[in-house]
Amino acid sequence: MSRDAFARGDFPLLARTVNGRPLVYLDNAATLPMPRLVLDELCAFRSNSYANIHRGVHTLSEESSRRYDEARRTAAEFIGGNEPELVFTSGTTDSLNKAAAMLAPRLDERSNVVITAMEHHSNILVWRSLARRTGCDLRVAPVDGAGALDTGAFRALVDESTKIVAFTQLSNVTGIANDCALLSGIAHERSDAVVVVDGAQGVVHLPTDVSALGCDMYAFSGHKLGAPTGIGGLWVRGPLLETLEPASFGGGTVWEVTSDRAVLSDDVERFEAGTPPIDGAVGLASAMRYWRAHDLDACRLRERRLIDRLEAGLANIEGAQVLGRAPERTGCLSFSVDVASPFDWAKLLDGLGVAVRSGHHCAQPYLEALGCAGAVRASVAPFTSKDDIDRLLEALAKASLVLKGGGVRGRARNRRG
Ligand code: PMP
Repeated sequence: MSRDAFARGDFPLLARTVNGRPLVYLDNAATLPMPRLVLDELCAFRSNSYANIHRGVHTLSEESSRRYDEARRTAAEFIGGNEPELVFTSGTTDSLNKAAAMLAPRLDERSNVVITAMEHHSNILVWRSLARRTGCDLRVAPVDGAGALDTGAFRALVDESTKIVAFTQLSNVTGIANDCALLSGIAHERSDAVVVVDGAQGVVHLPTDVSALGCDMYAFSGHKLGAPTGIGGLWVRGPLLETLEPASFGGGTVWEVTSDRAVLSDDVERFEAGTPPIDGAVGLASAMRYWRAHDLDACRLRERRLIDRLEAGLANIEGAQVLGRAPERTGCLSFSVDVASPFDWAKLLDGLGVAVRSGHHCAQPYLEALGCAGAVRASVAPFTSKDDIDRLLEALAKASLVLKGGGVRGRARNRRG
């Protein structure tokens, strides 16, 4: 087994054809296909042990409880955290919503929240809603012309009234990473803010150790790592977690409920009301084990070279423009080619078996800051090959020539964001 890449044969989805062509899957930033290991382990779990957890003493319940608890350990270790600090959620968006709900009591009209202009909608809307409800100020640190965070402006926005600082580890649009340790350091030095990192893309493409990132909360999704949809995590630094009230209540969160009072459980499950995503957690642990069986530094270096290859190739396509400028891009790259709208490009490429994403990538303010309404995004995974990148480039070059003659220029159509 090559440890610097995922074997394509491990991913059943990659074997299919689309529109009569072998699939080139370059939409990994949206969702990663599931490795066979995950599919098999999930099937075995669902067939043999599947039952509700921590509520029964029968064998199936105990087996399922053990698998769920193991999954929490695996997920926490994957990001360098401790098991009792990892709350299972349904994904990054849910994690950020939970974080906002738990931190709400810290805010009032005198306080402020600092985010950045390069965020995914999920890391904007929760804080906007919180600001509306609590009356606090929402401050947005701008990006520079290249699409990177303006660190000086970020620093200037954080003051002693800042209670939450939230930023992405890695952009899902330009592939530009933030220096999380630096930003967390600035936030902690200038305020007693809780630092929340959106790790939806970072957990996949960057070495992730929550201690090294210096954050207090870290949100991620399982489906971007090859787990099923509907599972994710919110890591919260232990001493902070101790001080927080759960965002929702229900079965599984309490030790005892009498007619007039309840005693909350003192373990992390007090933050997971109701039946949790048990098989999602089992699938997440399988996916993380699959990742850990590879040399991730080598995989990531390889991914970076593929993005460089794509960027270099785009420079030879007339009318192609890459969003942002960066000495190094990680995981994805977005671009436009002027003869057609991003939507039309994505449809055209799909006709050739190439799956990319088009639109605003749920980051409209970021695109606006970069002076563009929509773009095509190609995103890689450790199974992506040079051939995949070359097939995309060939398709773009050929179609560009044809379109220059005919022209299918159309309006960028944005999908849900
Ligand atoms: N943040 C970023 C940077 C993302 O890329 C995504 C997914 N596109 C999200 C948040 C939201 O993730 P999910 O839809 O899994 O909740």
